Amino acid sequence: MKKEKGFSTTSIHNPDREQVHSQSLPLYLTSSFGFGNIEEAIDIFTGKNQGYVYSRYANPTIKSVESKISRLEVHGSDIEAFAIMTSSGMSAIHTLLSTLLKPGDKILTQGNLYGGTTELLKKILGQMEIRTEFIKLHEVDELSARLSSDPDIKLVYLESPANPTLDCIDIRSVASCCQDHNVISVIDNTFCTPYLQQPLLLGIDYCIHSTTKYMNGHGTGTAGVIVGKSELNSFQSIWQTMKLMGTNCSPFEAWLVNNGLKTLSLRMDKHCQNAMALAEFLEGHPAILKVNYPGLESFSDHMIAKKQMKDFGGMLSFTVDADLSSTLRVMNQFQLCSMAPTLGDTDTLVLHPTTSSHLNVDPALRTEFGISDNMIRVSVGIEDIEDIIEDFKQALDVIQK
Ligand SMILES: *Cc1c(COP(=O)(O)O)cnc(C)c1O
Repeated sequence: MKKEKGFSTTSIHNPDREQVHSQSLPLYLTSSFGFGNIEEAIDIFTGKNQGYVYSRYANPTIKSVESKISRLEVHGSDIEAFAIMTSSGMSAIHTLLSTLLKPGDKILTQGNLYGGTTELLKKILGQMEIRTEFIKLHEVDELSARLSSDPDIKLVYLESPANPTLDCIDIRSVASCCQDHNVISVIDNTFCTPYLQQPLLLGIDYCIHSTTKYMNGHGTGTAGVIVGKSELNSFQSIWQTMKLMGTNCSPFEAWLVNNGLKTLSLRMDKHCQNAMALAEFLEGHPAILKVNYPGLESFSDHMIAKKQMKDFGGMLSFTVDADLSSTLRVMNQFQLCSMAPTLGDTDTLVLHPTTSSHLNVDPALRTEFGISDNMIRVSVGIEDIEDIIEDFKQALDVIQK
């Protein structure tokens, strides 16, 4: 009989190193991976053999979720993609852009982005001498003219639908314009998830997601992902940036995203159905000036959305016929809906952009891109729609019309 190890040793060491056929994704909560012998270690470190080394580099739980997301993003096509999970949506953007760009390069983007993205571009990338120019990406002629006249522009960054105005951009046109000018195209696909929109199939080079939102879907964690076309041969360089900047995802966060992905299609269908019903209700309400929802025929970008989205998503925003203080009174009046600065949860969430998510965006840029003080953004949840509408009805009652 083998000599029994001490109590402490036994309490520390994992007795079972064998692979078991776990039906659910196992959560590898480990910072490193051991080697059987020094030869095995050398082969892995020198790149002769593939193998896990350290969880900042790669981890089996994360790998499995990355593989799943890369397949979803190009599902139904013969395009091949890779995915790299990160600690947040912001770190996905930062990791990707700092791999692709160098000092002196320029980014061309729209003014109505996720607030944090605008700040990252201006404050952090700006400090690294990567400049950002904001234009209206709607106008492909204008985009083409800018790309022709400025060779420093190396990358076009877009969001469609955009936050919080829900403006949609013709993704295929922008992608093909970028291809014509040899410029990299990147899209934030957080609002849609690959279930509703597949930008890589429309010619875009890279997608990023804040998986914190719909992909996790339950508001239980923070993570992000970069997805790129395999043919770009950039996996190694992006992975290296992730590894060296330490913007890696945690295995537990990846595991939570995996749970969310299992119900993604069910949840997205319900989010879309509820959002459409709420948008129609709000459109008919006398206290409301304008409803921004890609599914409404009255919405200016409805036709663009229809062309490139499977359904119209769970996000909408609207402007109330009132000043700032009355708008804030509406915010305080919600009973069922939560005031929370996230989106894509099962619960309906309301947010007032100019005092929260877009507080640090230059007011002039906000005005130019239609982010006004009387705007409320809604992440429509998957509760019973009657209850959601009832809450909006009573909240809007504070505005007498
Ligand atoms: C939340 C969000 C981000 C940032 O993601 P984090 O996970 O919070 O870092 C980026 N883009 C969009 C559209 C988002 O909604």
